[in-house]
Amino acid sequence: MQTGTVVYKNLINGRWVESTSGKVHPSINPADTRDIVGYVQMSVAGEVEAAVQSAKQAFASWRKLSGTARGEYLRKTADIMERRTAEIAETMTREMGKTLAEAIGETARGVAILRYYAGEGQRANGEVIPSADADALLFTSRVPLGVVGLINPWNFPVAIPIWKMAPALIYGNTVVMKAALETTVTAVKLVQCFLEAGIPAGVVNLVSGSGSLIGNILCEHPDVKAISFTGSNEVGKQIAMKALARGAKYQLEMGGKNPVIVTKHADLDMAAELTVSGSMKSSGQKCTATSRAIVVKDVYDEFRAKVIEKMKQIKTGNGLDNDTYMGPVASENQLKGVLAAIEKGVNEGATLVLGGKQLTEGEYAHGFYVEPTLFDDVDPSMYIAQEEIFGPVLALLKADSLEQALVIANDARYGLSASIFTNRLDEVMTYIHEMEAGMIRINGESSGVELQAPFGGMKESSSHSREQGRAAMEFFTAVKTVTIKA
Ligand code: NAD
Repeated sequence: MQTGTVVYKNLINGRWVESTSGKVHPSINPADTRDIVGYVQMSVAGEVEAAVQSAKQAFASWRKLSGTARGEYLRKTADIMERRTAEIAETMTREMGKTLAEAIGETARGVAILRYYAGEGQRANGEVIPSADADALLFTSRVPLGVVGLINPWNFPVAIPIWKMAPALIYGNTVVMKAALETTVTAVKLVQCFLEAGIPAGVVNLVSGSGSLIGNILCEHPDVKAISFTGSNEVGKQIAMKALARGAKYQLEMGGKNPVIVTKHADLDMAAELTVSGSMKSSGQKCTATSRAIVVKDVYDEFRAKVIEKMKQIKTGNGLDNDTYMGPVASENQLKGVLAAIEKGVNEGATLVLGGKQLTEGEYAHGFYVEPTLFDDVDPSMYIAQEEIFGPVLALLKADSLEQALVIANDARYGLSASIFTNRLDEVMTYIHEMEAGMIRINGESSGVELQAPFGGMKESSSHSREQGRAAMEFFTAVKTVTIKA
């Protein structure tokens, strides 16, 4: 077991500074709570103010750089991050528990996102519009917003901050970032890469601490022109109200209750394999994780048997161990929430087929481990079929037909991602037309989408512009319409 005593600081105006609060927070390894990854600052209002002012000052010159020049900083940052992959990935695994293989994959994704947006600096951002006046030139250009506040969750501590920071920066904004308290050490390491790449002071700032304090100040600050938030629905709704109240732009990526549909024309081995990986990898703590499998009755028993067989093979353990398939959940809060949801499922009358308990013996004694959990006989109205659990819990629901499966799948307040397993084109077409989700797949996991494509959901999962790819330009720029008359 390792343990650290390093104190990680805020980055404000290009310098690492301690909070005047004098308070630090231990970042704890959820696989072994005796392992302290490091201590992070519990900042106060003054530090947010200083970070916003430094970003505001830096904006004056950053916005004037060409996209090509800004892209060079992103490219250098990507190279440094790639070189530091092992260190960043290990920190991520120790801070939030996902397996090292997943953490390495996520770091590679961060590098790829940086390179993608570096290229965006050399692509056209506006359009020429034919003018009714033959002597005039009419066109739009995209201009940056100013200082943007980026509020991040703990479940993708590299990919999500990067997919906010990279577009924010390439389009000419400056950034005040707040990481989730659980994963601030990883965030510090990310930000170190920007600094090592020579990004000018004040362009990237990081302030750590309590969400309700730091996040709140960022949302209410008149100099913060936009807020990009990923996290829970409860917090997202509060942010929307605050941003609306002062006319700031906002973007919310929130929860999911993502279904897979399995029809009688599915390859059941593939369906079981990808349902289990989609629901159990990262201990089910992906916003796009599968949490409901809605199975047409003709193949229900066979699919159920295959899922049970695969779930029984899952090796739960410390994410740093090579043979671990599923690590712990990320925190004590997560542990309590997941166990409470499982209890609700049992109390509501669903059949607990596998798991359902915390693992506490032997190698699990010091961590936040939950058994891979499977519920059968789940009614669509039950809590476990409606609410995001964000843990390794899969609910099986039976449907008479594809049409009924779609009704059940859409009967949720969320609409982030979904998948269908079938080899019939007519079923695929029906599903494409009827499924209410922002990212849908055919014969794949419900989780994840390529980085150059828009990311986001429908209904209560998302609000306003999509993230990733060119869609991010909508959020991080304003349109200026220009008419030049000779
Ligand atoms: P959370 O809402 O508790 O926290 C998210 C961030 O908001 C953290 O940095 C937190 O400190 C901050 N925060 C907390 N209170 C705040 C306030 N009052 N004002 C401003 N900021 C505040 O969410 P979490 O537990 O970190 O993440 C899990 C949630 O995130 C899940 O619901 C998951 O589905 C969602 N998520 C969504 C996506 C997506 O793209 N749709 C991706 C990942 C995670």
